[in-house]
Amino acid sequence: MRSGSDYLASLKDARRVYVDGAAVEDVAHHPAFAPVARTIAELFDLAADPASGMARLDPETGATVNQVFTVPRSREDLTAFREAATRWARHTHGWVGRSPDHVGAFLSAFAAHPEAFAAGEAGERDFAANVAAFHRRVADEDLYVSYAIIPPQVSRATTAHAWDGELIQVGVAEERADGIVVRGAQMLATGGAVADEILVSCIKPLGPEDADFAISFAVPVGAEGLKLYCRRPYAPAATSAYDYPLTTRFDETDALLVFDDVFIPWERVFVYRDVAGLRRQFFDTGAHVLGNWQAQIRFGVKLRFLAGLARKVAAVNGVDRFPGVVEKLGELASLVSLVESAVLAAEYTSAPDERGLWRPGARAVYGAMGLQTELYPRVLAILRDLVGGGVLQVPSSVADMTTPETRADIDRYVHSPGAPAEERVKLFKLVWDAVGSEFAGRHHQYEMFYAGAPFVVKGYAFRNYGFDEPLADVDAFLAGYDLV
Ligand SMILES: Cc1cc2nc3c(=O)[nH]c(=O)nc-3n(C[C@H](O)[C@H](O)[C@H](O)COP(=O)(O)OP(=O)(O)OC[C@H]3O[C@@H](n4cnc5c(N)ncnc54)[C@H](O)[C@@H]3O)c2cc1C
Repeated sequence: MRSGSDYLASLKDARRVYVDGAAVEDVAHHPAFAPVARTIAELFDLAADPASGMARLDPETGATVNQVFTVPRSREDLTAFREAATRWARHTHGWVGRSPDHVGAFLSAFAAHPEAFAAGEAGERDFAANVAAFHRRVADEDLYVSYAIIPPQVSRATTAHAWDGELIQVGVAEERADGIVVRGAQMLATGGAVADEILVSCIKPLGPEDADFAISFAVPVGAEGLKLYCRRPYAPAATSAYDYPLTTRFDETDALLVFDDVFIPWERVFVYRDVAGLRRQFFDTGAHVLGNWQAQIRFGVKLRFLAGLARKVAAVNGVDRFPGVVEKLGELASLVSLVESAVLAAEYTSAPDERGLWRPGARAVYGAMGLQTELYPRVLAILRDLVGGGVLQVPSSVADMTTPETRADIDRYVHSPGAPAEERVKLFKLVWDAVGSEFAGRHHQYEMFYAGAPFVVKGYAFRNYGFDEPLADVDAFLAGYDLV
């Protein structure tokens, strides 16, 4: 399996990643990207370590592959997927949202459903074979695939065909015998700057006039004409790991993709000018539910970490036995265990679909997702409540801890029973990086939006709950009595 150093070496290619008006020379060594690239490298090393239990023999090829890139064909496979995804998530404590298992899960479900790609506008082109071959490469070569599947935020009142008559959202500029040329932009490739490949598509509903934008393809990050415009990176401004322990490891970056006439060979195209094909790709294949189950596994691990922080802060401050604080910690425990339970409930209610893909239960996955917009801010609010001003009663940087003149006062005044200054400051700086730093603010937005705007995610919960049963219950009850 791929090693972390092989992954890091592969990042030195022709990719055009822009920060502060300039293209980055070498992302693996740039202060904005080196830290998260190192973290991804650690994930690959972890997967390749037999002790992690993440490797398995691929039943189709007999090769050793990462469990997270294989098609789950039984409940045992799903359990093994959860354990492997949890192993990775625990390495980052859930602070890397788009680790390679996220899009990897989407691709496994795509591969399990060739009919979803063979239908529609495929004609003589074998898009199903393209999907299968790409998934095979991802599993065999341990590729890190990020995705950009949302049109740029221009207007949500109209779709791409109505935008100035130009290709603003990425669309087909030219069809050629050997492939297509795409032009335009798409948001928002988290991790794109340090990925191998990007899956580009559109999950927002399009209309028949939008056929030029109804495409799906995989593109190497270093493809000629592809540009990545990253939001402000936070890692370079982080003074030290002691001051910003999360920012300095997990700032995975988010990038707007711009395609300046990028050539995509047919072998890399999965959906072509097929509005219905986009829906089949994400929903009929089970990719959306499998990929978002991975996201909930990761989210549960992160919430557990936040609960641990809250519990520790309360203990250090000596408030953890006060009834009001116990109530807050109890609420936190309830919220976290809801998500942890939904992950397991999805596995418990999993079932094979008509192509033998073992799908996690949609009711549990989307039920948890539908609450995420409220749940994450509530967890942060409880943690903020419990830390009080402690997160600001900390020295400006690690330099105050290493300068004898300032250290003496910090040792004397910034400590708690059982927690000397160095330990206490370390804990509270970690909490700030989780709730208050710029990195934390981005995570707040991420958890609210990564799977779609709140109205979209609640729509999934609405459609997948299965209202027929409760409606039948109510009707049966109403039928049991009358006017007399
Ligand atoms: C940190 C972060 C990381 C991300 N990473 C990725 C990634 O890796 N890959 C990727 O493809 N995408 C990613 N996204 C993008 C994400 O998928 C989108 O943000 C999400 O789909 C919502 O789209 P939008 O941001 O355009 O919001 P909009 O669709 O513009 O919605 C914004 C708000 O407008 C209102 N609104 C809009 N339309 C309607 C409507 N029809 N009815 C009612 N209200 C409406 C709602 O209040 C909604 O909350 C990321 C986003 C964030 C914040």
